[in-house]
Formats: sequence, C-alpha cells, structure tokens
Amino acid sequence: MEYLLHVLTEKCTGCMDCVEACPIGDGIRVIPLPALPERWDIVVCRHCNPAPCVEVCEFRALSISENGAVTLNQELCTSCKACTAVCPFGAVFLRLDGTMAKCDLCSGSPRCVAACEEGALVYERVERKRALMREKPSVVELLEFKGLR
Ligand code: SF4
Ligand code: SF4
Repeated sequence: MEYLLHVLTEKCTGCMDCVEACPIGDGIRVIPLPALPERWDIVVCRHCNPAPCVEVCEFRALSISENGAVTLNQELCTSCKACTAVCPFGAVFLRLDGTMAKCDLCSGSPRCVAACEEGALVYERVERKRALMREKPSVVELLEFKGLR
C-alpha cells in the first residue's frame, strides 16, 4: 500500500492556509495564474514513484522513504539543480540561500493537507501509486493532471 498526494487546483481559493502550515515554509507554493482569473496553481511534490529527481541525482541526495515520501538529504546535496531540470511539477528548486527546497511529506502526515478546508489537497492510500512519470508528460497532460484544462 502506498500514499498518493493529489492536487485539485480547481478547488483552490488561494487562501494560503497550506503555505502557512508548511513546517519548512516553502514545501508548497500557491501561485496566481495571470491568464486564468481567480485560479491558482499549487506547486508541491507528488512523491512520484518512479521519481525522475531520484533517478537523476548523481549524489544520492534524493531517495524514496518507506512511507513513499521522496526526501532530500541536504548533507549530500550539491545544489547542482539536475533534479529541478527533470521535475515536471517545479517541485524542487534552489532557494536564495543556495540550498534546495522540497516537500518531505511531514514524515507521512502532511500538514498542508490538514490545513486545506477546500479539499484541494487529498492524501489517500492507494493499492499502487500511479506511475506518473515514466515519461515526461506533455504540457497538455500536465495541465489536465493539474485540473487546469
Ligand atoms: S520529480 Fe518532482 S514531483 Fe516527482 S518526486 Fe521528484 S520533486 Fe517530487
Ligand atoms: S541539486 Fe542536490 S538533490 Fe538535486 S540532483 Fe543535484 S545534488 Fe541531487
């Protein structure tokens, strides 16, 4: 059994409760979409399996934990940004201080999900996590997945 973090952007009201609840501060971002009034994109790690970021990291700084969370070991990370280049969701990025930022799933109990009263974030047990990232999805597939199309 694995856990899946689902993002339903169509339900997001831009209230930022999830962002405020994030213990690392930048594990989740809510970004207004200029072309779509009153719509926001939610940028957060989907903890893919297989995970392109884990596969590309030469320094073994990223790994998949037992609870399915894709976690970053800051001590091994060189901030080379190879993971940023392959993440289809923009979910791992360089901070101004030179360290990489990424959601760690709050040890399996994500606070952002608990904070979202609109139901835009859903964390559920699944038989088998969808193999989301076997190939880099097209822009259209990504928009559909994010509920923006
Ligand atoms: S590729 Fe992106 S969304 Fe997938 S596990 Fe890595 S950081 Fe998360
Ligand atoms: S930035 Fe860090 S985590 Fe990402 S690929 Fe490079 S060493 Fe690995």
